[in-house]
Amino acid sequence: MKSTKFYLTVLFISFTIHCIQAQSTPCAYEEKMKKQGLVEVQKVLPEVFVQLKYATPDNFMKKDVYGCLTHAYLQKEVVQMLGKAQQYLNQHYPGLHFLIYDATRPLAKQWELWNSLDLPVKQRSNYVADPAIHSIHNYGSAIDLTLADDQQVPLYMGTPFDYFGEMAYPTKEQELLKSGRLPEKAYQNRLKLRNAMKAGGFMPIDYEWWHFNAFSRSEAKEKYKVVE
Ligand SMILES: [Zn+2]
Repeated sequence: MKSTKFYLTVLFISFTIHCIQAQSTPCAYEEKMKKQGLVEVQKVLPEVFVQLKYATPDNFMKKDVYGCLTHAYLQKEVVQMLGKAQQYLNQHYPGLHFLIYDATRPLAKQWELWNSLDLPVKQRSNYVADPAIHSIHNYGSAIDLTLADDQQVPLYMGTPFDYFGEMAYPTKEQELLKSGRLPEKAYQNRLKLRNAMKAGGFMPIDYEWWHFNAFSRSEAKEKYKVVE
């Protein structure tokens, strides 16, 4: 009995030390972003939900790529834009929240995503921006996000995040609606997301309903340093 008690005490102490260490060890990627002037979104906009998909195995690679990087960071100006979009959401669609799937993506992680794609190099850029020319995510100026209810349940958008195919293309929506492949409900939900993001000054892209740019790639390159 005595030895069991001793064993449990040792186990408890080592567990506690582990927890303290986990809390006090800063994430190098997040520290680097802070140093570069990027801001943690939820510190400014607490009503925004964050579930970074690349920090979980629930992504197209089926593995956790981000590790300790679990918070959404963006450039200060981009967070202000998201705040404007949030105001629009509150006014027009009360009860809905943004749910961020990806924000600033360090260049090292961009390479990991790129190298993990089991496709010829030429086809890879259809799915992941070529790390050699950088993604706008690498400048803290792009966001992947959806809308969610107050229980963090995402709204139906017709495809999951990172669905690689026409069903996710905003440019194909009218055609997909007419052929009945994209349900009206999904289209309306995408419109809500786009209207709010546009109100904040963001630009949608052609191939992913969840991706929005605050600036073009060349503008982002002029304004900011890449997050390595
Ligand atoms: Zn994106």
